[in-house]
Amino acid sequence: MDTRHSQELFANALKVIPGGVNSPVRAFKSVGIDPVFIKEAFGSTITDVDGNTYIDYVGSWGPMILGHCHPNVVASVRNALESGSSFGAPTELEITLAEMVVDAVPSIEMVRMVSSGTEATMSAIRLARGYTGRDKIIKFSGCYHGHADSLLVKAGSGAATFGVPDSPGVPKDFAQHTLTAVFNDLESVRKLVAANSGDVACIIVEPIAGNMGTVPPRSGFLEGLREICTNEGIVLIFDEVMTGFRVAYGGAQELYGVTPDMTTLGKIIGGGLPVGAFGGNRDIMAQLSPSGGVYQAGTLSGNPLAMTAGIETLKLLQEEGFYNRIDEKSRMLAEGIADAARRAGYPIYSTRVGSMFCAFFTDGEVHDWDSAAKCDTKAFATYFRAMLAEGIYLAPSQFETAFVSIAHSSADIDKTVAAAYACFKKLQ
Ligand code: PMP
Repeated sequence: MDTRHSQELFANALKVIPGGVNSPVRAFKSVGIDPVFIKEAFGSTITDVDGNTYIDYVGSWGPMILGHCHPNVVASVRNALESGSSFGAPTELEITLAEMVVDAVPSIEMVRMVSSGTEATMSAIRLARGYTGRDKIIKFSGCYHGHADSLLVKAGSGAATFGVPDSPGVPKDFAQHTLTAVFNDLESVRKLVAANSGDVACIIVEPIAGNMGTVPPRSGFLEGLREICTNEGIVLIFDEVMTGFRVAYGGAQELYGVTPDMTTLGKIIGGGLPVGAFGGNRDIMAQLSPSGGVYQAGTLSGNPLAMTAGIETLKLLQEEGFYNRIDEKSRMLAEGIADAARRAGYPIYSTRVGSMFCAFFTDGEVHDWDSAAKCDTKAFATYFRAMLAEGIYLAPSQFETAFVSIAHSSADIDKTVAAAYACFKKLQ
């Protein structure tokens, strides 16, 4: 595989962009090669600047559920652009997308648009704190909610429970308000809540963890969180930036039938343009400026191009049978890869919810960060490089989710499974 042009561009990028990339995982650091630079993407495939075309399971990290360049989305955004790219003033488009989100997501009665998932979670937490008058928050190790200061805290050692910052630059004074529990372990949550009685503003959770690989909630976990929050007056926030409109039209809360107090969204609702959103019940959302005192704002929030891409994308997701079809494709793919691993005599632990899936390089069950961290990341890196050479573009880390789009064909799936078999064979 010739990637000379990508290598040249990476060398140039390193001179003017820290690490050569505008978001760290893109640098391919953990898989030991330089990144490929992308020229274009259509449907299920993505093409680099050297002309190599890959079947894409990153999908821009989740938004591209329709595949790249869906003609309806392209046409509507092009059309919107002709009328102006940003006004910084209210538009009807914002109401349309807000209404679609309110109709779809059980917990959302009112919603505010922002421009990224990070802004959505950061703002949701500020609002939960303002609403409850409490400072502490609980998150789960291995869950990612963007890079706001209070959320860059994760477990790794027991020290994290006491709020030791994970990233330089996060003041201890901020991080001490973030408590870390164990995903899928209600007892760890109960202990933190009991030890901080009356001080916890919110529990924020990815209802299906997608940032330590794909880790589904165990039966009763989300229900248990709901019960704890209701009993203790804690705001339950589902971070559905990844799962919203992905695992079901109404997100994981529709799929599992558990309704949080607030929800954060991003990725799919922007149809590939920069969008995030946070919403919840009227009581909480009314505390937000200008109707309430909790401040939050954005120059490009509700951007007309992004609203248009979002509206068009959600319309297409409403097509009869959409989620059944994407679920079936994803089942064939995830089961095909697990079966390829078995046939090749290489053990993996396979997880999937809807069109999110992960092949963990471990033979043990993965249900939280500690069990995910046991994976053989070196073997994963070898697999990643071999798959790339076979024309399959995966996320360059063991601790990421693979995304299937409606544009992936049976031929794509067959090719991917055959490539996986060849790559697992090499690993033995
Ligand atoms: N929450 C979750 C669950 C995410 O997966 C992500 C991004 N992968 C974020 C928040 C942050 O979103 P963004 O990168 O748009 O800031």
